[in-house]
Amino acid sequence: AQQRYASLRDLPALTRCGTTIALHMNAGLMADLPSLEGSGADGVGLFRTELQFLVRNKMPRRAELATLYARVMDAAKDKRVAFRTLDIGSDKVLPYMKPNDEPNPAMGWRAIRVGLDKPGVLRMQIQALLRAANGRPLTVMFPFVSEFSEFQNARAHVLREVHRERSLGHVVPDQLEIGAMLETPSLAFAPDAFFQLTDFVSIGGNDLKQFFFAADRENERVRRRYDMLNLSFLGFIEQIIARCAATGTPLSFCGEDAGRPIEALVLAALGLRSLSMRPASIGPVKALLRRADLGQIRAVVDAARARGDDSARPALMDHLSTLSD
Ligand code: PEP
Ligand code: MG
Repeated sequence: AQQRYASLRDLPALTRCGTTIALHMNAGLMADLPSLEGSGADGVGLFRTELQFLVRNKMPRRAELATLYARVMDAAKDKRVAFRTLDIGSDKVLPYMKPNDEPNPAMGWRAIRVGLDKPGVLRMQIQALLRAANGRPLTVMFPFVSEFSEFQNARAHVLREVHRERSLGHVVPDQLEIGAMLETPSLAFAPDAFFQLTDFVSIGGNDLKQFFFAADRENERVRRRYDMLNLSFLGFIEQIIARCAATGTPLSFCGEDAGRPIEALVLAALGLRSLSMRPASIGPVKALLRRADLGQIRAVVDAARARGDDSARPALMDHLSTLSD
């Protein structure tokens, strides 16, 4: 199988019905970057920046981060890397930060909430990214945005830093994309103005699913209880797709489910055209997409919904077992 996937490396994820799906990889370490070439990924759809903060015993300095981000961009060559600003707080406590004792850390003071309340680190990280880009295109996204004003405020920090860098005589990117992760159900119901302002939306399916079903992703007892292919959840994803389509906002999906072939297939059938996953998943996902007709998958999902099934999975498994190679 490994060999078969390797032979697909330079082929597009082109379905039988003629739709191409962009497959990106998730990364978080410099050591992940060689996989960009090896897996044939179209880019890095999610670069988690937490690790560089977690492995140190003191706050990293701007220059250190800038060097690291520049190496990531160098390694990615011309491929796009979506840098996610720090998603930390509560459960992922930095050794050099005062711990917060929170009863529900996943719903606590984390990610962009920390970034907006204590913007020093957010601004330093943005400066490091701008210096690293040194005029190259730059993509930044914010984790865990729950309402429009959070996005506006975080975006304003980026624009302010761009302005500041320019006034200091540094080159700034002329292609700058600023996006939001959609990982709380509330953001799916944000005003149109949010979808118009953001350069893209990336669904963080791990968090979105846990908050949709109110089922803790860390709790073994419940974390697999609800299927991503549950038709209520798929209906919700369809609403997000429709909102983005209405404003022409590029949409991608970067939770773990994007790396599971059947889930990836369904996301594509619902209308997603960009998925981001761990590098090892790209081969298996591409292999299945290349055998599939999205219209047929869509019909199977719709029939399962019409019957009142909880999940589209059983019907899909039946359907896929009839697919020829
Ligand atoms: C997600 O929530 O789906 C996501 C990609 O972010 P993380 O897994 O880092 O929370
Ligand atoms: Mg998340």
